Amino acid sequence: MAAYEYEVHDYDVVVVGAGGSGLRATLGMAEQGLKTACVTKVFPTRSHTVAAQGGIAASLSNMGPDHWQWHMYDTVKGSDWLGDTDAMEYLARHAPEAVYELEHYGVPFSRTEEGKIYQRPFGGHTTEFGEGPPVQRTCAAADRTGHAILHTLYGQSLKHNAEFYIEYFAIDLIMGEDGACEGVVCWKLDDGTIHVFNAKTVVLATGGYGRAYFSATSAHTCTGDGGGMVARAGLPLQDMEFVQFHPTGIYGAGCLITEGARGEGGYLTNSEGERFMERYAPTYKDLAPRDYVSRSMTMEIREGRGVGPNGDHIHLNLSHLPKEALQLRLPGISESARIFAGVDVTKEPIPVIPTVHYNMGGIPTNYWGEVLNPTEDDPNAIVPGLMAVGEAGCASVHGANRLGSNSLIDLVVFGRAAAIRAGKTVDRAASPRDINVAQIDKALDRFDGIRHAKGGTPTAELRAEMQKTMQEDAAVFRTSETLSSGCEKMKAIAGKLDDLEVTDRSLVWNTDLMETLELTNLMPNALTTIVSAEARKESRGAHAHEDFGDRDDENWRVHTISRVHGAEVQLTYRPVIEDPLTQEDKGGIELKRIAPKARTF
Ligand SMILES: Cc1cc2nc3c(=O)[nH]c(=O)nc-3n(C[C@H](O)[C@H](O)[C@H](O)COP(=O)(O)OP(=O)(O)OC[C@H]3O[C@@H](n4cnc5c(N)ncnc54)[C@H](O)[C@@H]3O)c2cc1C
Repeated sequence: MAAYEYEVHDYDVVVVGAGGSGLRATLGMAEQGLKTACVTKVFPTRSHTVAAQGGIAASLSNMGPDHWQWHMYDTVKGSDWLGDTDAMEYLARHAPEAVYELEHYGVPFSRTEEGKIYQRPFGGHTTEFGEGPPVQRTCAAADRTGHAILHTLYGQSLKHNAEFYIEYFAIDLIMGEDGACEGVVCWKLDDGTIHVFNAKTVVLATGGYGRAYFSATSAHTCTGDGGGMVARAGLPLQDMEFVQFHPTGIYGAGCLITEGARGEGGYLTNSEGERFMERYAPTYKDLAPRDYVSRSMTMEIREGRGVGPNGDHIHLNLSHLPKEALQLRLPGISESARIFAGVDVTKEPIPVIPTVHYNMGGIPTNYWGEVLNPTEDDPNAIVPGLMAVGEAGCASVHGANRLGSNSLIDLVVFGRAAAIRAGKTVDRAASPRDINVAQIDKALDRFDGIRHAKGGTPTAELRAEMQKTMQEDAAVFRTSETLSSGCEKMKAIAGKLDDLEVTDRSLVWNTDLMETLELTNLMPNALTTIVSAEARKESRGAHAHEDFGDRDDENWRVHTISRVHGAEVQLTYRPVIEDPLTQEDKGGIELKRIAPKARTF
């Protein structure tokens, strides 16, 4: 057994992750007087949320009529009817108050002439239950909204005495014999010490796993660590096959150009200079949802109308917009286009291509953020002491496809909901639980095994193999053939985790070891993604299966539940929650309005 000394810290709540969701949860817990720690592998304001550009959706009606019911309807339709309706109602209903709270905490939103929060149009956000014109629902702080939110929430969390453990890497969860989560084992990156957090509730807010793919808009730190920890604890992941490709990643570099660019009037063209989105989505054109636009772009390229010497990308045009508007509303992306594409947006189009951007799937939760472990008897059974929020979680509000600006609002609405729930369920007076030492030893054995790994495969090599396979075989369009060969390849690649080679044995700033731990987290995320995709014989949202081109509600309006055993994945299914939280007579949305129908734009 590995001999590591460790320090034990007792808390009511430990939040793992300091992105938008982790900080909102931390702040909410601390505000209620819960003894709260926030553990993060990067400095809080370096979390990927800092890169969010376009904005945060809420039906404030600052720019024209809007209602939370319209926002809810768009979210249901955007999800291609795979989201849980109660959670989607919770999101849309509570969005305005969550945004006003951010405003009062100090987020410097852009303003309208009269001083209200500025809102821009975003794809898939409409009026009149999808029958009216696009709505301006996305609240923005120029094109640096995530940056503004993250800095504000960090300041507020400090003000409420939340305690931060910065540059601590969470290795594994500690699960009690009764199945409840008891805490988390961490490695302090700058001095190599080990820390055990004993907590009455653990909140996973570890973000997405974009880095399972070769080309992604997400930070290199987005390695699905929460999903990895959950899978190792024998708990399931949900709807992993749904990976969002953002239409406008910069060709070659992968950096994001926000959908706000199209919201402000930008449009896409092919090699013939044609605004081709008018053909695919006559009503909403360039502001159709992301899965739709990404597929349309891919079809243009396939049919020989791509731009560039190899005809393999598309142009995003902004040069017709007034210079002042670009400076005021899109300063960040003007800079990104200059640096990463060598383009002056006032004169030339930006070369773009659909790029992996967001994971709709993740750790299944209810709308309070409580983690689910579905059983045959109870598809909504919870895991005591464990919550998940943000991109790591799957509540599920985005279903098969997320609408732009619905993630930032998901972070704050459900970060807040988790805090409200913990305020009710955590017994502040109870003394800390006796922690399961066997589980701590198990986590440290795994850690030690990886630290001393002497196999023949360097981490970077195996990671590249995984990323290439995912990029090729679990792409925008999928076929039975690519998916089944991809599954075989991924199982072989996951099998090679036993043959890893780590060269640096130290414990202080050992990036080789950290990247290897991250790879062991990416792998179960990648594996469940491709296996779940192979099994789903229909097309829905971001899962576009060429051999099964239609959505099949009769057989497939279900959540995929995946459990990992070594390199094998076991799949079961959980029904979608179809009823909203409130029914018609209580002022809720009419059920008939949100019944599944064809998704056209
Ligand atoms: C470029 C870009 C632009 C975007 N723009 C928008 C937008 O305009 N609007 C919108 O709604 N959405 C947008 N999104 C999506 C949205 O920003 C993300 O989904 C969201 O920020 C994720 O937040 P999070 O709190 O879940 O996690 P993150 O912000 O990714 O933070 C994860 C946190 O977990 C910590 N962590 C992870 N693993 C460990 C570990 N093992 N131990 C300790 N700590 C750990 C990290 O340190 C970090 O603090 C964008 C995404 C990208 C990539």
